[in-house]
Amino acid sequence: MDLIINSEEEMLALGKHMASLLEADDVVYLMGELGVGKTTLVRGIARARGYNGRVTSPTFTLMNIYEVDPPLYHFDFYRLETGDTFDLGLEDYLERKGISLIEWPNLTDQSLPAEALLVTISLLYDDYELARCVQITARGAKYEKKLEGLMQFVHSGHR
Ligand code: ADP
Ligand code: MG
Repeated sequence: MDLIINSEEEMLALGKHMASLLEADDVVYLMGELGVGKTTLVRGIARARGYNGRVTSPTFTLMNIYEVDPPLYHFDFYRLETGDTFDLGLEDYLERKGISLIEWPNLTDQSLPAEALLVTISLLYDDYELARCVQITARGAKYEKKLEGLMQFVHSGHR
């Protein structure tokens, strides 16, 4: 599914729709250059799941935990220098009953779950103005169902 997202508010609203479909154990990969809006989407998801604190890219700590039910594990591997996420306990987190939201999943050496929702955000125009293209694909039957649900939301005009 390809969407045009015209503002930060629309990105937060997309996060809200995604949040309603996510459940414990789910994994979402967020791809796209710095500043395209990956963390903004995570913020939309976190707000809708009842988390009211700060949601910022966990750039130096590599991960944030938002204590809601189920907890949200927000990873960002951009600053990862060696590709080594072992010390972080990534595998342990992925086995727990939380929702994992992972920015820059390609930068870890560790193998990540193959089944997930994949979100790729890009600039619609060649500048950092508001418009973004958001491509969402699903890997695995569970996520295909979620993506169908999301498409229904979007097409029914709920924004
Ligand atoms: P990333 O995590 O991909 O590096 P952030 O979400 O931290 O990006 O930052 C995105 C920036 O772009 C924010 O400052 C946000 O206000 C701005 N922005 C402008 N238009 C949009 C949009 N349509 N969607 C998301 N963010 C947008
Ligand atoms: Mg970010």
